[in-house]
Amino acid sequence: MTFEELNLISPIADALKAEGYVQPTPIQQQSIPVILQRKDLLGCAQTGTGKTAAFAIPVLQLLSEEKTQGPKKVKALILTPTRELAIQIGDSFTAYGKNLKLNHLVIFGGVPQGNQVKALKAGVDILIATPGRLLDLMNQRYISLSDITHFVLDEADRMLDMGFIHDVKKVIAKLPPKRQTLFFSATMPPEIQKLANAILVNPSEVKV
Ligand code: AMP
Repeated sequence: MTFEELNLISPIADALKAEGYVQPTPIQQQSIPVILQRKDLLGCAQTGTGKTAAFAIPVLQLLSEEKTQGPKKVKALILTPTRELAIQIGDSFTAYGKNLKLNHLVIFGGVPQGNQVKALKAGVDILIATPGRLLDLMNQRYISLSDITHFVLDEADRMLDMGFIHDVKKVIAKLPPKRQTLFFSATMPPEIQKLANAILVNPSEVKV
């Protein structure tokens, strides 16, 4: 399968060419059509399989097709366990979205919040966050999740291993029920399966 067959809009297709991507990876081949149909997804995939592009590309495409007016509101939330992953995901959105008029912000803890708050006030379409700092800024009313239409939970099993699952559940409780949820985990321990069952609606399952 080629990227042409995935019916991507040309600003994204061109950006992928510029990245040197010729062929979608298996997780991308299986996930991108499902996500573009606005369906929920349960993806079992490790880092290195191309899973970031598997959700970043279709989320960018869906958001770019949505007509918006007025001040920017956060419409997509990517929740990931570590600062390194958050930065990598941000770099992916930069690369694949470079021809689009969408912006994103990466937030994580362990650094002063001033620059993050300033960027939030200026308006963000796509927020990439670790759970602790996200909750912190939500509690201070710098972030509202009430306009989220696409939610990605990345590395759910690592959230559990790192002790973040309670924070993740607190974030999920604040999301609008009417949304698309994309759930990624390398493994499916019972607690993660339970969470997936609780938050996904009729999901397509993709395993690589
Ligand atoms: P990930 O599994 O998301 O961490 O991605 C692993 C690496 O594969 C990243 O460096 C991506 O830039 C790269 N990558 C993702 N998709 C493709 C593709 N279709 N063709 C070539 N490289 C890719």
